Amino acid sequence: FAKLTRPLRLLLIAPPGGGKGTISSKLLKQHPEITSLSSGDLLRQEIKNQTSIGSQATSLMQSGKLLPDQLVSDLVIKELKTQNLLQGEKSWLLDGFPRTLAQAQILDSDLYKESSQINMVIELKVPHSVILDRIENRWVHIPSGRIYNLTYSPPKVPGLDDVTGEPLSKRPDDNVEVFKQRLEQYEKTVGPLREFYGKQGVLNYIAGDSSDIIFPKVQKLIEECFGPDGKY
Ligand code: ATP
Repeated sequence: FAKLTRPLRLLLIAPPGGGKGTISSKLLKQHPEITSLSSGDLLRQEIKNQTSIGSQATSLMQSGKLLPDQLVSDLVIKELKTQNLLQGEKSWLLDGFPRTLAQAQILDSDLYKESSQINMVIELKVPHSVILDRIENRWVHIPSGRIYNLTYSPPKVPGLDDVTGEPLSKRPDDNVEVFKQRLEQYEKTVGPLREFYGKQGVLNYIAGDSSDIIFPKVQKLIEECFGPDGKY
């Protein structure tokens, strides 16, 4: 795979269970120069650390509802700054944020001040039947956000994280009822996001039933645009 020759500032959009996490971790393995930030992971860490954001997040997340736009935006933007990702020519990837038009507008005005903008958005199109199955089989290692699937990518030792040996958990929102709510929420909010990034000329769609099909397409698209022979 080709090295990126220009900073990539990527937003991945997908339905719940649509594989954003899996695609990001595959991409990071091939391109260690990219840093990924997941709003869901940041929020689960706040819950684990019992912070005041965590206490606001717990019940909303458990019922599959979105958190207030400003709260999530502040959390992610603060992390982008803490990790120094807005300085210099850094490549990064956002997973799960922005998820509403209001969040996209908040981020846009903040990045504008820093003279860096999202320069690629990829929306993953995955059939509902596939994502439901994934949700039921998914286990996570909360501190790192590493994801396992009991069918496709089980941990080496059942119930334990491959890297740290710590226990895996089932996300409280990974059940059929809450999933329905998350999916409805997604369908409602994704339209205006598409429109926003479509107007900026950075939106791309990639379809497929599994990350094995989707990932090579993501990789090809990114390298075509940001690799040595990049279009931009
Ligand atoms: P996946 O299943 O691929 O992880 P998801 O969208 O269901 O996708 P997360 O991104 O981890 O899962 O989000 C889990 C929950 O965290 C959401 O249902 C919502 O309650 C909260 N959340 C995460 N990101 C945001 C955001 N940008 N705005 C508002 N709420 C968010």
